Amino acid sequence: MLARAGRRYRSIALEADARHLLTDVWTTAGVAAAVLLVAVTGWQRLDPMVALAVAAHVLWTGFDLVRRSYLGLMDRALPPADRRAIEAVLERHSADGVRYHALRTRQAAGRSFVSVHVLVPGAWTVQRGHDLLERIEAQVREAVPGASVFTHLEPREDPASFADVDLDR
Ligand SMILES: [Zn+2]
Repeated sequence: MLARAGRRYRSIALEADARHLLTDVWTTAGVAAAVLLVAVTGWQRLDPMVALAVAAHVLWTGFDLVRRSYLGLMDRALPPADRRAIEAVLERHSADGVRYHALRTRQAAGRSFVSVHVLVPGAWTVQRGHDLLERIEAQVREAVPGASVFTHLEPREDPASFADVDLDR
């Protein structure tokens, strides 16, 4: 349950606690099984072997958590499944002549960020364009719960719309 809450809130701290509990369960079960097996088989060498396996498991779990906490502090892109969900939202509007580019995603410290340029026919009114962006932003937030969405509206016909895809410009 802790692990599920950790995933839902993208909290590495909750997940670390869950993994800690789980590690305790596994190590206790492993040690108990080893004591039993040594008692039954009389094979003394089993005890240090199980101890090594337990130590390796604890070390690996700890290492994995440290690695992912570090990644959590560094910005990185959203998982591919989230990106596909965002693309599906944007493609839903392609029949109306709506295109997009410069889709960027980022997650940092449990928050998700999505930014995208939305290209619409230049003859659209500001009202119509804004209504579309509001809808797209709501749909992206539905696809990626809790995401902060930034959009930028551009006329499809203007070459300048396509000259701004780079981060540095
Ligand atoms: Zn653009």
